[in-house]
Amino acid sequence: MPTQPPSRRAALAWAGVGLGTALGLAGCLGRGEPEGRVEVTGASPAGRRQVYQQLVERLIAPIDQLWGQGSLPYPVKVLAPATSADWSDLSGLPGDQNTVPAVVTGEGQERVIVMNPAAYDILDAQGKHLVLAHEMTHLAQSQQTDVPWWLREGSAEFTAYEQIDGGYPARWPDVWRETAALVAAEPALPAQPRIGTGLSTANPDRLTAYASAWSVCAWMAQRSDGPDVVPRVYSAIAEGQTMDEVARREWEMSGAEMIEAWSAWLAEQASINN
Ligand SMILES: [Zn+2]
Repeated sequence: MPTQPPSRRAALAWAGVGLGTALGLAGCLGRGEPEGRVEVTGASPAGRRQVYQQLVERLIAPIDQLWGQGSLPYPVKVLAPATSADWSDLSGLPGDQNTVPAVVTGEGQERVIVMNPAAYDILDAQGKHLVLAHEMTHLAQSQQTDVPWWLREGSAEFTAYEQIDGGYPARWPDVWRETAALVAAEPALPAQPRIGTGLSTANPDRLTAYASAWSVCAWMAQRSDGPDVVPRVYSAIAEGQTMDEVARREWEMSGAEMIEAWSAWLAEQASINN
C-alpha cells in the first residue's frame, strides 16, 4: 500500500479537527492507556468508526514494542470517509484504485491513516487486522521518503504479519515458492510494482512484490535472531547509510553477499515447505 503526499483536501480536513481533542485528552497520554491515543474522524457511520478505534487500540502495544515507544504519533489518527469517492479525494489516489484498502497521508504529527470503505470491507477479519497493522507501521516510520520501497513496505508487512499466528506463510502458503522463484530469476532487492494496480490476489505481481519485500525483512530477523533488526536497519538507511554499510555491521557481509544469502535462504525455505 503506497504512501502519498497529503492532498490539499486532506490538509484542509485536518485543519478543523484534532487539536482540541488532542489537548483535551492529554491527561491520558502519560499513563499508557489506549483510550485517548486513537482519534477516528470522518463521515462514516459511528459503528464503523468504533471498529477502527478498537482495532487500532489493540495494535498500539505490539507496534510500540517493535518500533520503540514514541514512534507512533499520538493520537493515532484515522480518517474514515463515508464513500470510496471521498477516500479518493482525501488520499489523492485515483478512484479506480479502490483495491487499496487504506493509505497514510501527511507529514510529522499530521500523519493520518485514510480508510477506503469499499476496499476494506471485502477483506476477511485477519486481512482487516493486517491492513491496519501495516498502515500503523507507516505511521511509526518517521521517515518514509528516504528509504527504498522494499524496506518501507517490507518492514510494514513484516510488522503486520508478526502479529498473526504462523505469519506470512500461514496466510499465503505459496509465499516461499513464489518469492524464491522471483529472486532466483532476478537476484535483486524488490522494486516497487507497477503503478495503477491494486493489492489483491487477482494481481499476483503486486502481491508477490510485497511478499518478496516482506521476505527480506524475514531473512534479516532469522539471521539476527529476532525482529529488532528490522527497525534498526530501517533507521540506519533512513539516516543515509548504504545497504552495504548496514550489511557489514549487522551480518559481516557485503550488500551483494546479503542478497545471495537471502536468495539461498528463500530457496531452502521453498524446498522445506513445499
Ligand atoms: Zn504500505
